[in-house]
Amino acid sequence: MTASSMEHSQGQSSNGTGLAEQLESLVQALEQGLATAHSAPDVENIRVAYLGRKGLLAGLMSSLAKTPPEQRPLLGQKANQVKAMLQERLDARLQDLERNKERELLARFDPSLPGRAHWLGSLHPVTLVTEEICQAFVSLGFDIVEGPELETDFYNFEALNLPPDHPARDMQDTFYIGDQTLLRTHTSPLQVRTMERMSPPLAAIAPGKVYRRDSDLTHTPMFHQIEGFVVDKDVSMADLRGTLTAFVHQIFGQEAIVRFRPSFFPFTEPSAEVDVSCMLCGGRGICAGQACRVCKQTGWLEILGCGMIDPAVFAAVGYDPEVYTGFAFGLGVERVAMLKYGIGDLRMFFENDTRFVSQFG
Ligand SMILES: [Zn+2]
Repeated sequence: MTASSMEHSQGQSSNGTGLAEQLESLVQALEQGLATAHSAPDVENIRVAYLGRKGLLAGLMSSLAKTPPEQRPLLGQKANQVKAMLQERLDARLQDLERNKERELLARFDPSLPGRAHWLGSLHPVTLVTEEICQAFVSLGFDIVEGPELETDFYNFEALNLPPDHPARDMQDTFYIGDQTLLRTHTSPLQVRTMERMSPPLAAIAPGKVYRRDSDLTHTPMFHQIEGFVVDKDVSMADLRGTLTAFVHQIFGQEAIVRFRPSFFPFTEPSAEVDVSCMLCGGRGICAGQACRVCKQTGWLEILGCGMIDPAVFAAVGYDPEVYTGFAFGLGVERVAMLKYGIGDLRMFFENDTRFVSQFG
């Protein structure tokens, strides 16, 4: 090696050694910086300052080009080692911070506290009974239809053989919204709406809310009804009796006895009310030597009204009363639920007391 080349190389060599020292000092400086980092963003700022594209390491690497070519591989290796060390210190600090956070959380957590119960919702008894009744009729071949709760006078009264001056309108205290609009007082408008829309043979039930201006121990302004009707050629009272008896047996059990009593409804002729033998006293009227409180000693419980559809209703929807006959019935869902579950007070259905509702899940 010539003197001049030696000198040259020494000069460059001290340059290379300087760079190596600077690279090493980066690690120490980073460690000092990390000692004051108390959050992930702090650590990220330091990472950018050291390892970012314009960071300290990149700055030193740009002077690598000025070092003698034979030293560059070693310096490059050194730079890579330093880079790995910097990254390792940064990762370790992040892990430390994460562990500290967990320790703080655990310090606030009291394992001796009692657990919190998780409540499962349950269906309201009115919903349960509605579904059960619908299921019973669907199994007998009925369809389910629905309609509006805000009705016109025509569908709620007139088409059901209740003209404006009919005295039977007083049987149902009505919420009028306008001259010709009202909150339906029964689900019977669905008879008319369905017959208008479809041709016989028809077998359908219509569950839904109905409204009356009543409020006392046994009446609420809103309650639930299920209307049912069958229209075809040669439908008879015997079909009505057979269908409703099958339904009662499904809901109250095979041992339940069904009784039909003559009654009056404007939209059926003849009309009947259906009683079922009291499920508490088994129809005897006496329960454990005492007068039965459920049936008031009669042995019977009224559950629904029914009858053969009045020809005037068929005329209103354009069916020929000479060709078609049919029967209809309507029952109160709350009434059936009270009998089925032995609930004594109608108001319990509407008080939203979860202690009551949760018993039916
Ligand atoms: Zn009884």
